[in-house]
Amino acid sequence: MTPLAIHAGLMFDGTNLSGPTTVLVEGGRITGVDTTGAPPPDGVDLIDLGADTFLMPGLVDPHVHLGFDAGLDPVTAFTAADDTELLARMRTAADRALRAGITTVRDLGDRDYLALRLRAEFGEGPEILAAGPPITTPGGHCHFMGGAAEGAAALRAAVRERHERDCAVVKIMLSGGNMTPGSPPPHESQYSPADLRVVVDEAHRLGLPVAAHAHGTQAIRDALAAGVDSIEHATFVTADGVDADPALLAAIAESDTFVSVTIGVVPGDSPLVLPPEVAKRVEAVHEALRSLYKLGARIVLGTDAGIMPVKPHDVLPYAIAQFTVEGPSPLEALTAATSLAARACGVSGRKGRIAVGADADLLAVTGNPLDDLDRLRDVRAVFRAGVRVR
Ligand SMILES: [Zn+2]
Repeated sequence: MTPLAIHAGLMFDGTNLSGPTTVLVEGGRITGVDTTGAPPPDGVDLIDLGADTFLMPGLVDPHVHLGFDAGLDPVTAFTAADDTELLARMRTAADRALRAGITTVRDLGDRDYLALRLRAEFGEGPEILAAGPPITTPGGHCHFMGGAAEGAAALRAAVRERHERDCAVVKIMLSGGNMTPGSPPPHESQYSPADLRVVVDEAHRLGLPVAAHAHGTQAIRDALAAGVDSIEHATFVTADGVDADPALLAAIAESDTFVSVTIGVVPGDSPLVLPPEVAKRVEAVHEALRSLYKLGARIVLGTDAGIMPVKPHDVLPYAIAQFTVEGPSPLEALTAATSLAARACGVSGRKGRIAVGADADLLAVTGNPLDDLDRLRDVRAVFRAGVRVR
């Protein structure tokens, strides 16, 4: 295939901004980044996206569920579908993400390792990093995905199975959640610190990161102590409210652990209907997030795409804009959704940056999103491994 030269008036490389830039692409990878304004070399196919175009790394969403349909009852839809139907739905979801410039999605909970199957069968989809069925207690949060395990031997075996299947991450439901009838509430822990340690040690021994679903303050504390790689949600809920202990917030900020805050909703047509027990905690959860940001925690934006109508699989651009309400600048928010998110997912060598050697996963939008983050949704082009998919 002829090498490509992609030219744009502005370029964000995942960390910094440059003026007119030409990115050279060959074999699906970035082979050159020229910010000198020199003409492209001979023998390349030039794609000039225009002076008013902002070129950036494809977005990385570290927390999605391709198998959830973003409907009013995603769990029933999920459990009622057979694997063929579910796989088709996941393909549609992945395609929707890709068209919005989300070139990497980390699926933190499927059934029967369908996200891995999708990755193998879906030629021009986004990069899919899959957890497989999340490890949970029998009858626990999202047990219907098929990942129940308890006791050290079973937990160790569950981690090994995910490694053998070639999962990119181990997901554990450390606390309860909101969407599984009859399961523990979000503030309750599902596993002991000792059980969690078994999972983390085995995963790390095998070179896999651990993403811990943790709403409750105790679960967050345990996750940090066990050395998980990312704390998902981190809402600090208790039985009757929110307890964002300042010492715990500071300890998270000082650690290497990423916090994946599952923010991001599409405003407008479908109203956000939160259960009352969630709604009464919203302000305090946002306050905790603002504190984490001020303290310098490594915050990335997992959207939990698919779990409700306001969270379709292309919601991440909204999450980026909504993150700035909590304190970050537009540049910091874009960094969180590109280079930092790639680090959180353990793929910083390949994803989330425009640099020689990285995968040529690129998003081009019209205008400058650093002036107006709504520009992120004015997509001009998307490239995945050097192939223009939009
Ligand atoms: Zn989730």
